[in-house]
Amino acid sequence: MKKAPQVVLPGATIGVLGSGQLGRMFAIAARRMGYRVHTYSPDRDTPTGQIADIEIDAPYEDLDCVRQFANAVDVVTFEFENVPAATAEAAAQCALVRPAGEVLHTTQHRLREKTFLSNHGFPVTRFEPIRQAEELCRVVPEFGPAILKTAGFGYDGKGQYRVNSLAEAEAAWGAMGRQEAVLEAVVDFAAELSVIGVRGAAGDCIFYAPSCNQHVNGILDVSLAPTPFPSRVIRQATEITRGILEQLEVTGVLCVEFFLTRDDDLLVNELAPRPHNSGHLTIDACVTSQFEQQLRSVCGLPLGSAEMLRPAAMANLLGDLWSKGEPDWRAALDLPEVKLHLYGKSEPRPGRKMGHLTATAATARDAEELVRAARSRVARE
Ligand code: AMP
Repeated sequence: MKKAPQVVLPGATIGVLGSGQLGRMFAIAARRMGYRVHTYSPDRDTPTGQIADIEIDAPYEDLDCVRQFANAVDVVTFEFENVPAATAEAAAQCALVRPAGEVLHTTQHRLREKTFLSNHGFPVTRFEPIRQAEELCRVVPEFGPAILKTAGFGYDGKGQYRVNSLAEAEAAWGAMGRQEAVLEAVVDFAAELSVIGVRGAAGDCIFYAPSCNQHVNGILDVSLAPTPFPSRVIRQATEITRGILEQLEVTGVLCVEFFLTRDDDLLVNELAPRPHNSGHLTIDACVTSQFEQQLRSVCGLPLGSAEMLRPAAMANLLGDLWSKGEPDWRAALDLPEVKLHLYGKSEPRPGRKMGHLTATAATARDAEELVRAARSRVARE
């Protein structure tokens, strides 16, 4: 086994497992600071591959290929958490892997993640594991309105069903192939927010101002920061994020998504041990972006300032926007405080994240108005 360096300086090579837009924005930050980037996924001409020095197109299950990939880089990181545990282990035999594979193992499975959170005293929505039909019959009547979610490989509201009765729950569980699932109480939340935290290789932590997030059909639509929430809520959300970063011993970025109840209580909804969609506005609004922080952290470098220079809002650009042809980008760029980010994806399928717009303004509300106006302008009639 190669002796892994603890600090990885510019000029070295970073390996990214996964090849989507998160890897792309990470690779842009890494290339800007003089690193080389290799990416590994079962696809080619990917958002990350278009920026990387080398794009490896191979299955995650090909562990020999994974070891070869890891041998050629100085540190391996992830751009999405559904990389199989065996892949992370194979990479760790040959290179420094940050964050460690155990972080992925916990967070890539809803049941493990929620059990970890509740065992460590972090506030979560009431939940029950569903592995057998008897469990469904027993717990559904106790819950009232609930959401049935697959335990593994869920994101952006995929694999989720709202259920109000045992009959609906049985139908939903059948539709997901009776696989292991989690039944969760529906939270009548006042708002959704997220905190992006970063833990450096030496255990030091830095936090961004929370973002307020609006979802449509389970997919993030608009994020804005700073939020109008009471300072007690912001402090608590930040402290919960610190606690999770430390308990999980993350080296890298962690996003904690919260529900804020109508009584101003926080419940953790989900963890993402990587840069997150709700942190994209940090590229244009903060001293250091979440992607540069991921880079600094996994390379063992000092973290940058997370200070916000200007209130900002981000709006996602989904494939649906392409239904009447290529959007009119000039119409958005006519607004000088609007920034366009496109991910290099050639197929604009409905629901697919193709890019985002960020606007900065004197207040977060103004930025939201501006970014929404920019997005409506680009849509073809
Ligand atoms: P998830 O993939 O679990 O983050 O869910 C995507 C979105 O669905 C969340 O951001 C919420 O808007 C909504 N959602 C998920 N779980 C719940 C819940 N227990 N109660 C209310 N809304 C939820």
